[in-house]
Amino acid sequence: MALKNQLSCWLTYTNETTHKIIRDNLDRAPMFTGVIEGVGPRYCPSIEDKIVRFADKSRHQLFLEPEGRNTDEWYVQGLSTSMPEEVQQKILHSIKGLEDAEMMRPGYAIEYDVVSPYQLRPTLETKLVKNLYTAGQTNGTSGYEEAAGQGIMAGINAGLRALNKEPFVMKRSEGYIGVMIDDLVTKGTNEPYRLLTSRAEYRLILRHDNADLRLMPKGHELGLISDERYNDFLAKRQAVTDEIDRLNTVRVKPSDEVNAYVMSHNEKPLKDGVLAADFLRRPQVTYADLLRFIPAPDAPLDRRVIEEIEIRIKYAGYIKKAEENVAKMKKMEAKKIPDMIDYDAIDGLATEAHQKLNKIRPETIAQATRISGVNPADIAILSVYIEQGKIAKVKSV
Ligand SMILES: Cc1cc2nc3c(=O)[nH]c(=O)nc-3n(C[C@H](O)[C@H](O)[C@H](O)COP(=O)(O)OP(=O)(O)OC[C@H]3O[C@@H](n4cnc5c(N)ncnc54)[C@H](O)[C@@H]3O)c2cc1C
Repeated sequence: MALKNQLSCWLTYTNETTHKIIRDNLDRAPMFTGVIEGVGPRYCPSIEDKIVRFADKSRHQLFLEPEGRNTDEWYVQGLSTSMPEEVQQKILHSIKGLEDAEMMRPGYAIEYDVVSPYQLRPTLETKLVKNLYTAGQTNGTSGYEEAAGQGIMAGINAGLRALNKEPFVMKRSEGYIGVMIDDLVTKGTNEPYRLLTSRAEYRLILRHDNADLRLMPKGHELGLISDERYNDFLAKRQAVTDEIDRLNTVRVKPSDEVNAYVMSHNEKPLKDGVLAADFLRRPQVTYADLLRFIPAPDAPLDRRVIEEIEIRIKYAGYIKKAEENVAKMKKMEAKKIPDMIDYDAIDGLATEAHQKLNKIRPETIAQATRISGVNPADIAILSVYIEQGKIAKVKSV
């Protein structure tokens, strides 16, 4: 309904004239003159940045977006800039369609200080100031989701601290928020950090369809999910499990109808009966098709339940492998590194590992393994050191 009666966006492009104006004035752009020292956001560069970084491109796409129904203002998306105002005027007027445009406000760049993420615990509490939690841009990230993801975690943990409860740290295998915060506190960042799916090693497990399965129980335990919503979730989870169990017992028999269907998908006909789950595993078979050949469940299933069943059955092999890796990592996550550990007292650590461990002070062996420059040999030494209980000795020194 709301999608009707939309205002149009338009496309235009920069051109060689635009690029020449920018190149001729680069020495006046604060990002290049050294007035601004910080690194700009990699994923939304300014137009001057694009001209320099992608010098071989003869044009860059610009979206003209109406600012609203009752205004003549347009947002020129793709033309962010910190060039001097009179240069911006020339740039704007060099673009086809914008020759007579009136600039309402010039663009500008900002630079701001951040808390080094190395100074943060995985709870987003600062290491230097107890009970102070920071989130978002302050921590060196850029983006709405990044800010929101940290905001909720910092809020949860500040709340838990106030209630004297155990902190909540989301693991990398549990959600993208876990990936982001672990990246930040383990690797730090020297440019605005953005969370990309490619940063996650367990992408097959971090799916949007199973977000509730991964996180609802935690949300409920933390008091953030109502009983009503949680019970609805529990019913869905049970329905998924029940139906997968059923599909692992019911068989599809090699009838004429089944084989006509199979052959219509260019597959070999069945000679013997197969488990319904195995039949569903075939790439073209959908749950709806499968129901033509086996008895329907007692009650019709919700669309979300069906989607989850299809994914779990079709990708079972890959998911199992990913889950095995998660289980291995969980063991390492369980190995805590005591807060008071003195890295100077550990013999045999490589110099780089020693420096990085001292700086980052990881909270678990798993986090230590993810620090660049900390090698398996260092991890072995660290693990033995902790297991031998030498920490206690250090503490009493
Ligand atoms: C022009 C522009 C376009 C962008 N486009 C996108 C986009 O398309 N997609 C995307 O994901 N991200 C985009 N971003 C980035 C995104 O907006 C920010 O990374 C994100 O909003 C940061 O959220 P935050 O909560 O950390 O900080 P902010 O949203 O800046 O919130 C900080 C708040 O603190 C308040 N404050 C500051 N000092 C004090 C004080 N002393 N006392 C009390 N309050 C104070 C401020 O007023 C502000 O409300 C864009 C940013 C800009 C500038």
